Amino acid sequence: MNVNQQPHMATPYGQPQPGYQGYPQPGYGGDHVPSGYPAQYAPYNGPGSAYQQGPPQGKGPLPTEALAQAPPHSYYGALPPVQQPFQNAVPTFSSAGPTQPQAPPPVSPQSFPQAPPISQPPFSTAQVHPGPTQSYRGPLPSTQSSFPRPPHPTSQPSAFPAGPPPTSIPSQLPGVMQPQPPVSQPSPYHSGPPTTSTGFPPQVGAPPRPSFPGMQGPPMASQGPPMASQGPPMASQGPPMAQANHILPTQPGMPPGPINASLSGPPPQPGMQGYPPQQNGAFGQVRGPQPGYTGPYPGQPNYGAPPAAPASAPAAPKRLDPDSIPSPIQVIEDDKANKGSEPFTTGVRGQAPPLVTTKFQVKDQGNASPRYIRCTAYNMPCNSDMAKQSQVPLAAVIKPLAPLPPDETPPYLVDHGESGPIRCNRCKAYLCPYMQFSEGGRRFQCGFCNCVTEVPPNYFQHLDHTGKRVDCYDRPELSMGSYDFMTTVDYCKNNKFPQPPAFIFLIDVSYNAVKNGTVGIVCQELKTLLDYLPRENPDVESNIRVGFVTYNKVLHFYNVKASLAQPQMMVVSDVADMFVPLLDGFLVSVSESRVVIESLLDQIPEMFADTRETETVFGPVIQAGLEALKAADCAGKLFVFHSSLPIAEAPGKLKNREDKKLVGTDKEKTLFQPQVSFYNTLAKECVAQGCCVDLFLFPNQYVDVATLGVVPTSTGGSIYKYTYFQAPSDQERFLNDLRRDVQKQVGFDAVMRVRTSTGIRATDFFGAFYMSNTTDVELAGLDCDKTVTVEFRHDDKLSEETGALMQCAVLYTSCSGQRRLRIHNMAVNCCSQLADLYRNCETDTIINFFAKYAYRSVLSSPTKNVRDSLVNQCAQILACYRKNCASPSSAGQLILPECMKLLPVYLNCVLKSDVLQPGADVSLDDRAYLRQLVSTMDVAESHVFFYPHLLPLQKLDVESMALPMAVRDSEERLSRGGVYLLENGLNIFLWVGVSAQQELLQNIFGTPAFSQIDPNMTSLPALDNPFSKRLREIIESVRAQRSRYMKLMVVKQEDKLELIFKHFLVEDKSNSGGASYVDFLCHMHKEIRQLLS
Ligand SMILES: [Zn+2]
Repeated sequence: MNVNQQPHMATPYGQPQPGYQGYPQPGYGGDHVPSGYPAQYAPYNGPGSAYQQGPPQGKGPLPTEALAQAPPHSYYGALPPVQQPFQNAVPTFSSAGPTQPQAPPPVSPQSFPQAPPISQPPFSTAQVHPGPTQSYRGPLPSTQSSFPRPPHPTSQPSAFPAGPPPTSIPSQLPGVMQPQPPVSQPSPYHSGPPTTSTGFPPQVGAPPRPSFPGMQGPPMASQGPPMASQGPPMASQGPPMAQANHILPTQPGMPPGPINASLSGPPPQPGMQGYPPQQNGAFGQVRGPQPGYTGPYPGQPNYGAPPAAPASAPAAPKRLDPDSIPSPIQVIEDDKANKGSEPFTTGVRGQAPPLVTTKFQVKDQGNASPRYIRCTAYNMPCNSDMAKQSQVPLAAVIKPLAPLPPDETPPYLVDHGESGPIRCNRCKAYLCPYMQFSEGGRRFQCGFCNCVTEVPPNYFQHLDHTGKRVDCYDRPELSMGSYDFMTTVDYCKNNKFPQPPAFIFLIDVSYNAVKNGTVGIVCQELKTLLDYLPRENPDVESNIRVGFVTYNKVLHFYNVKASLAQPQMMVVSDVADMFVPLLDGFLVSVSESRVVIESLLDQIPEMFADTRETETVFGPVIQAGLEALKAADCAGKLFVFHSSLPIAEAPGKLKNREDKKLVGTDKEKTLFQPQVSFYNTLAKECVAQGCCVDLFLFPNQYVDVATLGVVPTSTGGSIYKYTYFQAPSDQERFLNDLRRDVQKQVGFDAVMRVRTSTGIRATDFFGAFYMSNTTDVELAGLDCDKTVTVEFRHDDKLSEETGALMQCAVLYTSCSGQRRLRIHNMAVNCCSQLADLYRNCETDTIINFFAKYAYRSVLSSPTKNVRDSLVNQCAQILACYRKNCASPSSAGQLILPECMKLLPVYLNCVLKSDVLQPGADVSLDDRAYLRQLVSTMDVAESHVFFYPHLLPLQKLDVESMALPMAVRDSEERLSRGGVYLLENGLNIFLWVGVSAQQELLQNIFGTPAFSQIDPNMTSLPALDNPFSKRLREIIESVRAQRSRYMKLMVVKQEDKLELIFKHFLVEDKSNSGGASYVDFLCHMHKEIRQLLS
C-alpha cells in the first residue's frame, strides 16, 4: 500500500480544549508546563458545525515553502482534499458504529490546581498538636505498638558529620576551587574588524538548480561548481533553508585551500524567498590570535573580550576565527526566523520540524507532534548498506505523555467499544492513518506489515471515490498522529480492571535528615501538597490514596485511618524480611483522613527531633512501599526522601567505595555500576507491581547514587539530588521540585511497544525503564517529562514510495485508574541517495541519541574508548558526506552538511561533559546522577544541558516581550560591562562583569556598586523598576520551561565562583582538558581527512 495515497487534510478537531484555559503556563517554551498536566480529553463535540476544514492542503499550492518544494511523491496527503461530504458528518468519534453517535467520552476536561502556596514557616515553626505528641514518644522495638515509649536508643552516634556543610554550592557543581588565574587582560569594547552580520556577500558560484521532483541520479558531485557548496536539487522537502555547506579553511600548517569567495549556497529555491542568508556560508579567514572580538550579531557592538585564552597558545600561530565557524546562535536564530511564524503541520511526511529552540505551534494532521516524537533523520536510508555507510544513527526520541501548550489540542480519547481497539490481525498495530481501506470499506490493509484485516461490522463505513472512509476526519484514529484508546479488561493485568494508584511517602528521619531540616520541610509541605494530587477532573477529588512511612535503621508505618483520633505508629525492626504490619488504615483517601494525616505530619518532626540514630537502611524502605502496594493490589509511586549511605545491617546495605583513583582507568566503569545486585532484583519486582520510585537525595558525602539510583531508573522514576542541603538556600528548589513531581501527570504500569514498517525495527532503547524481552519497554511509572529514545536498524529494504512508518503504543493506567492506550504515529521518508539523508537530519536529536548512547556505554567501557568512538562515528558521518555528497575540493577544507553543521560543536560538549571527561572536582555521585538524568531527557533538555543558553541582559529591552539574542558560550563573548544570564536546565547563573554599568546594577540589585553585590543571594530583590520586573519574569519563565527548578547563583567576574560558571562556557577549553570548539573542529577535520585518504 502507499500511504501517500491517503489524503490528509487539515482537520483541526478544532475546539480549543475546554478546561485548558486559565491554566497558567508562564513562559511555555515548547517544553514543560510548570506543574500539573494538560487536560486529557476534551469531548469531541464537533459535529458538522465544529468540523473545520483545514487549509487547502494536499492540492494546489501548499501553505509553506517546504511544501512547495516537495515533489508530489512525498506529500503525505496528495489527494484532493475531502470536503463537503464530511462537513456534516456525524460525530462518530467515540462511537462504535458509524451511525450511532455516542456521547463524548465521560472524562471531563481538566484544569489545573494552582501550585500550593509556599509553606513559609519551615519545620522549625511547625505547630505540634499538643495532645497527641504524648502518644508518640517513640518507636517501639517491635510491631503493633502504640506509642508511649521513649525513643529507642539507637546505634552509636559515632559518625556525626563535623560541623556544617562547607558551602551551599549546588550539587552538580564542582566544589569550591582554587582561585582562578587572573583573567587575561581585557580589552573591553574593542572594535575589531567588522564581521559579517546578516548580510553576506551575494551568493555566487552555484548554477541555478531548479527542483527536479523525483530526481534520481548522483548528487551534485558530477555537476557541482568547483566548490562543494550545496546539496543536490531538492528531490524531497529538505529544510527550507539555504543549502550551503560549511567549508572551513585550511588548518594551520596546511596548504591553504581555496578561499571561499566562490563558496556559496545554492540560489534561492522556489519558495525560499525571504530567508535570510546563512551567516556561515562563507568561511575562510584565518586570522591571528584574536586581538579582540566584535559581536557577530547586529546590535551587539560592544562585546569586548580578552585576548584568546593563553591555554590555546601552544596550538598554532594562527587559529581559526571563531566567527567563521558555524555558530549555534545563528542557526537557532535562523530557524526562529524561518519556521517560528507559521504553525507546523504534521501532514507532510518526512518534514523536519522546527528546532526545539524555536517556539511554534503544532497542528496534528496525521503524524505525531514533534513534542511527542523527534527523529534523528526524516529521510531514512532505504537499505542497511547506506545506513552503515553514513553512520547516521536512526533513532526517535519519544515523550509519550508530553504536555502541550494551551493552544494545541491534546489527544482525543477513542472508544471502540466492547471489542477494544481495532488492530491489524498480524502485527497488532492499532488502527491509524496508515491503514488503507479497501473492498468498499470492508477490509483494511496494514501499513506496517501489509496484512489485510476485516473491518468489524460495527465499525464499517463506506469509502469515497478516493478510497477513503467518509468518516475519516471524524475519527482521530483515522486522521491524526496521536490519540488515546479506551481499553477493555483484556488489556489489564490479570484480566482485572486496575485499582486507583497510591502514593507512599517514605521519609528518612535519621540524624542527618533531621539536622539538615528535610524532615520538617517535607512534613510541612505535604500538608498542603496532598490537596494537589493528580486527577483527571478538577472538580473531582483525586482517586490516589496515600500512605506514610518514616525510617532510620528501622521502619515506622503509620495507621492514619479516618476513624482514629490519632495516628498510630507500628515499628518494624526486623528489616531482613520486610513486611507491612498493617493493611487497613495504611493507604487512605486524603479527604477522609485529613485530620489524622495532618496530625501525623505535625508530629513526625517533633518525634524525631532529638534522634541520635545516624544509620539508615534503603533496600527495606523500597521493599516496604512495594509490599504495601502489593497488599493493596495497586500500582503507585514511592517518594523516598533519603540522606545517607545505607550502612545499617539490612538487605541492600552498601559500603563506601568512592575511589577517585579509578577515574580514567579501565576500572572506571565499575563506579557507574551498582555495587550489589540486590537493587536490580528489587527493581524487577517493583516493575512487576507497577511501583515507581522517585528518590530525593540530601547527601553530605558519598551516598553511591549509582547504586541507589538503580530502582528509580528502572521504574520510570526520577532522582533529585541536593548536595549539602541547607534550608535557607535550597528549600525553594527542593519544594518546587517536590510540588511538580507530586502533581505532574503520570501513568502507571506502563508498557510501550514500537512497531515499524517491514524493513526496519526498533533494536535498542534508552531511558528509565525495564525490559524483560527485546520489544516491550516496561515502565512502572511514566510521567510527562520522561522520554524513551529508540534506535532503529534495517532488517530489510525500505521503499521510497511508502516511507518508513512507526507506531508507538503505550498501555498505561491513568491516575484515575483507567486502563488506556496512548498511540503516536510517525512516518518519515526514505531515500536511495545519501544526499537526501544528509539534507533532512536533526542534529539536536542526533546529539540526544549520542549522549544517551555514550552515557550508557560508560557502564561497560572506559570513558576514553567511549569518547574515541563518538569522535570516530561523527568523523565517519561527515566523511561520508564529504565523499559522496560534496563536490571535489581541496583536502584542506572541511565541508559540513547544512543541517549538521553544529554536529562538531555539540558533540564536543558531550565529549567534555562531566560524565565523559570530569574535572578533578566532580564527584562520582554527581557523575552517576548526571548520567541517569540525561538518560530520560527530551531533545530540548539535552540541547540546553549541553549547550547552555546565555543571554546578555544589557541588551534587554524592557518594552519588548522578546528576549535579547543569546550569545555563544565563550568567555570571548562576555563583556566586562555586561550582566549575563546562563541556564542549562539545572542551574541559572547571573554573571556580573566587573565594569557593569551602574544603572544596570542599580536596576537589578538595587546598588550601583559592583562590590556591594552579595554573591550569596539566591533570588533577586523585587525592585520597583521595569528592568527588575522584566528580569524576574524572564527567570520565572525560564524556570517554568524546565522540569527541574533551577536555583539562581550570582557570579561576580573574577570571584572564585567564576570557575564554576566558566565550566558552562562550552565553546572554550575546559579545566578537565576538554577541547575548545575551534580546536575540536580542527581535530575533527583531521579525522575526516584521515578517513578519506
Ligand atoms: Zn500489521
